Amino acid sequence: MSETIFTRIIEGQIPSHRVYEDEKVFAFLDIAPLSPGHTLVVPKEPAATLDALSEESAAAVGRVLPRIARAVMAATGTRDYNVLQNNGVAAHQAVPHVHFHVIPKPGDARGLGIDWPAGRLEAEDGKRMAAAVVAELAKG
Ligand code: 5GP
Repeated sequence: MSETIFTRIIEGQIPSHRVYEDEKVFAFLDIAPLSPGHTLVVPKEPAATLDALSEESAAAVGRVLPRIARAVMAATGTRDYNVLQNNGVAAHQAVPHVHFHVIPKPGDARGLGIDWPAGRLEAEDGKRMAAAVVAELAKG
């Protein structure tokens, strides 16, 4: 787990607009917001991607996400929002330290735009894929 700019923000070496902090979590405003209030919720543990994060840090982030979302929406007077979490360069992750974007979606062009090229799940493919995932989960 190598250090990123987020570790330096968490440690106060780089300034940020902090909105929340506890023993395991740090949240601050995104420097390039998609909409006003765009917030990053970051575990202090410097795991690069979600699958590498400890259950303790994941639980700590999950516990506080709804509260931070409520606060951001109240502060921005917004009702709708997206929570985005990118993993890997192909999935648009620029900073390899797990983070959740909380992005208010005002009723205009601001906020997250989503390209959603939906396919169709065929029964046989679904059966095979579900069995494969269940088998992986059984490994622990
Ligand atoms: P990703 O594409 O990795 O999911 O998102 C990384 C986010 O971190 C981007 O939205 C980017 O604007 C934000 N970011 C990158 N560097 C800094 C910084 O130094 N300060 C703050 N506040 N946000 C940053």
